[in-house]
Amino acid sequence: DVALRLSGITKAYNLGTPGVVEVLRGVDLNLAPGEIVALVAPSGAGKSTLLHIAGLLDTPDAGSVEISGEAVSAQSDRVRTAVRRDSVGFVYQFHHLLPEFSALENVVLPQLAAGKARREADAQALALLDAVGVAHRAGHRPAELSGGEQQRVALCRALANGPAVLLADEPTGNLDPETAETVFASLLRLVRETGLAALIATHNLELAGRMDRQLRLDQGVLTVA
Ligand code: ADP
Ligand code: ADP
Repeated sequence: DVALRLSGITKAYNLGTPGVVEVLRGVDLNLAPGEIVALVAPSGAGKSTLLHIAGLLDTPDAGSVEISGEAVSAQSDRVRTAVRRDSVGFVYQFHHLLPEFSALENVVLPQLAAGKARREADAQALALLDAVGVAHRAGHRPAELSGGEQQRVALCRALANGPAVLLADEPTGNLDPETAETVFASLLRLVRETGLAALIATHNLELAGRMDRQLRLDQGVLTVA
């Protein structure tokens, strides 16, 4: 049973005069449902590139991506967009919430886009906000929330459609250590409860050490950290 499988992923950027930069050089990765894996690497090592390819936001030069056993990398843009919407959740360093909408609405909107009824989407959004301790802020806009609350709402939005895979790029990188801890604890608990697979890029070795496995991206290949 595999939630996310990357096989032989390569990606190079052509930078013109200095030539080609090979960012990923044959990346293989299997994530089982319920597994939380840390991706540790210095900046510039290709973490964002890898997460974007795993989340179908970018295409590799070679190699394949499978999500929940479905080979998605070779599918049409339309299919890939649907798989991304229904099966992949993203959390970034910055929350990227929509500023004109409330916390609740930010968690409801992706569900409406996936075809869910408003009443059902509201209930799911409220349950998620409650699970991370921000239900009392449901009616507030992102600017009215603290940094920790914003990231917890972003986490709820990522999980709103019940994805098989959560991809996070430095989800606590912008937060002070205490706030980072509350956000990370919420993330761990929700991931454990829902049984999805998570790949979490972080510079924080203490947080990485609390995940199930630690992988290092080094010279374009993944190694056990
Ligand atoms: P990380 O997330 O680990 O900091 P990135 O995946 O963002 O690393 O970038 C890896 C390398 O690829 C860097 O050298 C970066 O400059 C280069 N890179 C990333 N995206 C592009 C792009 N669109 N065009 C050219 N080079 C890029
Ligand atoms: P967290 O640990 O989640 O980051 P903080 O300690 O930063 O929380 O904030 C404590 C309380 O102050 C929270 O309930 C938060 O909603 C409120 N708060 C923080 N910043 C703002 C703001 N800019 N506007 C309104 N309320 C805020």
